[in-house]
Formats: sequence, C-alpha cells, structure tokens
Amino acid sequence: MKVLAYRGPGVLELEDRPQPHVRDGEVVVHVDACGICGTDLRIAAGGHRAYANALGRVPGHEISGTVLEVGGDLEVAAGDRVFVAPNYGCGHCRACRRRRVNLCPDMRALGITEDGAFAEYLLLGRDLVAQGNVLLVGGEADPGAVALAEPLACALRGSQACGTGAGDVVLVYGAGPVGLLHVALARLAGAGAVVVCEPNPQRRQRAYGFGATSVVEANVDALREALGPDGADVVVVAAPVASAQREALELAGSGGRVNFFAGLPRDFSAVELETNLVHYKELVVTGTTASTNESCREALDLIVAGRVCTAALIDLRSDLASAPAAFDAARSGEVMKVVVQP
Ligand SMILES: [Zn+2]
Ligand SMILES: [Zn+2]
Repeated sequence: MKVLAYRGPGVLELEDRPQPHVRDGEVVVHVDACGICGTDLRIAAGGHRAYANALGRVPGHEISGTVLEVGGDLEVAAGDRVFVAPNYGCGHCRACRRRRVNLCPDMRALGITEDGAFAEYLLLGRDLVAQGNVLLVGGEADPGAVALAEPLACALRGSQACGTGAGDVVLVYGAGPVGLLHVALARLAGAGAVVVCEPNPQRRQRAYGFGATSVVEANVDALREALGPDGADVVVVAAPVASAQREALELAGSGGRVNFFAGLPRDFSAVELETNLVHYKELVVTGTTASTNESCREALDLIVAGRVCTAALIDLRSDLASAPAAFDAARSGEVMKVVVQP
C-alpha cells in the first residue's frame, strides 16, 4: 500500500509499505478520507515535538474509513463505515479514569505518536479499539465531511466550556477552518450575534456562510462597535495570537466566558494579561485542547444529521499520489480545508 511518510523537515514522501492485517482485538480500515490540519503542516515543517525522532511516521488524525478486517468478536464488522477518534490514553491515570483522555500524560494519538491515516489502509491497535475509538457512521454522509468530526469535536469542547447559549453575543477570533466551525456551533447553540475578527478578507467573507452576523478586520474599536455596549458574552480565540488573548479579556462583557482555543507558538506563550478584567467582570477564562471519544461522537452525530456542514469547509480533495501538492495548497492558506481521499 502507499503511505505518505515524514522524512524530516519539509519532506513528506510517498512510500510503499506492506498492507497491514489484523491480530486479535485489532481492526484494519480502508482510509476513505483524512483531513490536513494545522498540526499536520507543523509536522511536515519539522515543528512538532512528537516527530522530532520519528522519521518514517505517517501523519493524519482526521480519519474516516471503511472496515476491512476485524480481529475477533468486536463491535464493528467488515464493510462498516467508521470515524476513528485519534486520541487514546493509558487507561488508568486520573485523567483517563475521568474519561478525559486528551489530558492523559501518556496520551497516544494516531498520526501524532504513531502512524496515522495518510495511507491506503490503517491498522487500529487493540488498546485504541478497546477504548471505543472506532465510531460507526450512520447514513450516507460524505467521508470527507465525516473526517472533519475531529476538528468539530475540538471546537465543540471549546463551545461547551463557554456554555454558549440562546441570545449570546459571541466573538470569534480567526476564520480558519476551526474558527468557522466555532461560528457554526455558536449559531447552533442559539447565539444572537456572532462577530468574527479575521485579517484575511476572503476568509472573513466566508464566515457569513457559517452564520456570522458581522465580520471585522483586526481592529479593537471596530470590534467594540460590532459587539455593542455590553460587550461579548463569549469570546473564542481560535487564532494563535497573543494580542487576541489580551483583547478577549477587554471585549468580554460582565460575566463573559472566554476560551483560549488556539495554542500559541511554544516560545511565545508568556503573555501579560490584565487580570483585573477577570476579577471585576467575573470572567470565566477557559482553555480546551484536542478531543475525546465523547466529543467526537457528538460531533459526528451533528454532521450526519446535517446540523453542521463540515463539507462546506472542503475546498480541495486530493488522492494520495497528489498529497504532497495538497499539503502545499493547505500551506498557502488560499484553500480552507484540504482532504486526502486515498
Ligand atoms: Zn487536526
Ligand atoms: Zn491516562
């Protein structure tokens, strides 16, 4: 089978590997679609810690596929269409016992700590299968749209951390793929207004299609005006920008909830914040990272039910042979979301 392997900074190579087969407790899927995410671009560029000594590892963690082989009596059968939640934990630490595998200190993840889905076939190991990461897809959903249940699950956790609800005024920093998913989720939660701050004019315009009520170039006065006198009930910072984190505390109204969704570059994450804004406005400042099986299930159900249209993010679909070019397109920022369909 063909895979796309990491061979050092800037080098992704198509390679031939033996097709995997199951042993007891394992599952092999044919990969139908795998999304290229910002994390994959960082991996490809050589900037991901987990890939420091991982020459030959295959990235890809936004995965939908069809079951090909099943090792033993499991909950899936050959021919089932599935979404694979990429993160799984050690199973016994405090985070895992609380079903927060995304916080497990020994978290393992397809496409990050082990081979992922930029490949024709993917072997799902015993622990991952046993932890319930293989989720059945009902209906006829587009495999590309299904793969995006992973970023949607991440966004969902951010939205839930803020308790976004009916009538809320929501501000989203960043109109990349995940920012747009935040916009869609805010509308789905009943937000009255969703203001989007994004410097790129094409991306800014795109936000209207996902339910933004106004879009603003990065400018704090224009944002203040768009939000109105009471400020934002919810601010999601889905852009890796320190100044946006500072502004979020200013633009949140009294009782506002803030989510630092995007991480900052490793050496630039010490940010000075006006903490009296947290104190006097009784702000709730949250952070969320990655996804869990539960959030993936919820995201998948939203996609299959047609309540969030992740397919609308996909500007380019590529086969595996053209995947290196697809990575270049994703890196250019001119396309929103790129999906590889081996
Ligand atoms: Zn991702
Ligand atoms: Zn654990």
